[in-house]
Amino acid sequence: MSAPRMPIESGVPDPFPYMHPTLKKNFGQWKYHDRPRPGVLHHVAKTGEEVWTVRAGTQRQMDTYTIRKLMDIADQFADGYVRFTIRSNIEYMVTDEKKVQPLIDKLQAEGFPVGGTGNSVSMISHTQGWLHCDIPGTDASGAVKALMDELYHEFTHEEMPNRVRMTTSCCQINCGGQGDIAINIQHTKPPKINHDLVANVCERPSVVARCPVAAIRPAMVNGKPSLEVDEKKCICCGACFPPCPPMQINDPEHSKLAIWVGGKNSNARSKPTFHKLVAAGIPNNPPRWPEASAVVKNILNAYKKDAKDYERMNEWIDRIGWPRFFELTGLPFTKYHIDNWRGGRVNLNASAHIRF
Ligand code: SF4
Ligand code: SF4
Repeated sequence: MSAPRMPIESGVPDPFPYMHPTLKKNFGQWKYHDRPRPGVLHHVAKTGEEVWTVRAGTQRQMDTYTIRKLMDIADQFADGYVRFTIRSNIEYMVTDEKKVQPLIDKLQAEGFPVGGTGNSVSMISHTQGWLHCDIPGTDASGAVKALMDELYHEFTHEEMPNRVRMTTSCCQINCGGQGDIAINIQHTKPPKINHDLVANVCERPSVVARCPVAAIRPAMVNGKPSLEVDEKKCICCGACFPPCPPMQINDPEHSKLAIWVGGKNSNARSKPTFHKLVAAGIPNNPPRWPEASAVVKNILNAYKKDAKDYERMNEWIDRIGWPRFFELTGLPFTKYHIDNWRGGRVNLNASAHIRF
């Protein structure tokens, strides 16, 4: 009998061949770590070996020239090893403390800010945007670049009460995650259907099944099989657009941005939380999105001034209460902040249990 065919693993590659030799050697054998200054981590192994990690911000979507420049810095000023964090920061590891300052100086001279550690505003994790995804209503990476340009000081300094982790999402289906502050697209009008294309492009039963509020039904339009939307039921989520591009929901005027706060993924001190809507209807205004940046900076300033040391955004809001949050930030509280959607009792269920 022939040997069974082995599965082809094509997941995350084995990190060990690319790991700095000192990290590899001391894997799982670390005694302690500290942060000598913002942007630098210092790890000490039980063997007494030490590693300094210098973290720098990048614009994430990089051209070949910039990548080569970053790699040249690794060869000339570090030990030739780099890694990227999940927030698109680049990290250089060195085993000689004397190399740390020249490496920082070189990175800063080339325009890469050193920071993003501890109680700073680290790089915003963002979804793919216009360059890589087929359904975005905004360019998450562009909005992030514009905002991080204005938060340069908060990236290079650890002056926040606790770490601030922000996210963005460029559609409402949302492959972005929970964040202390999140900038998300918000559609405000139901999709417009191009009936000439539906029959050729869309698998109608799967589009009907996709709608979370059962607002789509099959219809014959001009003698052709198509779909129709019950606009009273539609919650403008955009879930029908990916499987059926003729149901266009992106709109230069009616696709807005919304800001959400108080989400977190970590289990430190309190359980993970969902972020909640605090500002809606913000213009989706490329290339610098000044209105969204202004709201985010306003929330950050209020948090920085009023939160106690070590309070994350959600812990601060839990302590002061939502009315005080809206007072401190000056954001208007409207009826749109109240989730009165009946499905909310299911969609806010954070347990991992299967439900029907
Ligand atoms: S948030 Fe939506 S549009 Fe943006 S990359 Fe993810 S799936 Fe695509
Ligand atoms: S936008 Fe969402 S709610 Fe509206 S029809 Fe499409 S899937 Fe249904």
